[in-house]
Amino acid sequence: MPREKKADKIERARLVEERMVAQYGEGESSLDYEGDPFRLVCAVVLSAQCTDAAVNKVTPALFERYPTCYDLAGACIADVEDIIHSLGFFRAKAANLVKLSRMLVEEFAGVVPNDLDQLQKLPGVGRKTANVVMCEAFRNAQGIAVDTHVFRIAHRLKFAGPSADTPDKTEKALLSIYPKEDWLYINHQWVHFGREFCRAQRPLCGTCIIEDLCPSSMARESAS
Ligand code: SF4
Repeated sequence: MPREKKADKIERARLVEERMVAQYGEGESSLDYEGDPFRLVCAVVLSAQCTDAAVNKVTPALFERYPTCYDLAGACIADVEDIIHSLGFFRAKAANLVKLSRMLVEEFAGVVPNDLDQLQKLPGVGRKTANVVMCEAFRNAQGIAVDTHVFRIAHRLKFAGPSADTPDKTEKALLSIYPKEDWLYINHQWVHFGREFCRAQRPLCGTCIIEDLCPSSMARESAS
């Protein structure tokens, strides 16, 4: 593909977003958190290297026993481990949940901060998690959460170049071509799209809703 002008890339991104909205609307989280920012933070921390479905199986018991950050701040880490032991990295995650709850109680008056930088001070919360919480809990997008789906799709669409080899660099590339009003929806939409069409293995390029906008389409390659 010849080098694409920035204006053309921005237009292609706009068209991609149009199709995503038509297909998925605003998208929605598949994590259960009952509209509570604290539960969302916990669920997203638990979802690292795990499916949302696996997380949704353990959070009802977790939040029944520890409904608020005050309850979880006083928990014994071994008891939390018992509840979430079916998840990968459950020991580190249990420790982070208790530590982040303590920090919420001690430094944030028990309230999850509506701020990307403050969120990242919480143990176990990196930029991706903080972006998810900002968009999902507060509807206040300050970036785009780049998970494995968003990273893969951004690169296949060539919205991020080879030098954008980390989630942070890929996010920067996306923020430079998508207007802020789209940031809220891209992660949800692309997660759904990544599961349905642009799978890691054997993407369904032949039926893909943005095939004509994708420089990596295998359908076109095999047709030519
Ligand atoms: S055409 Fe294929 S590679 Fe491109 S976005 Fe669609 S599924 Fe992914």
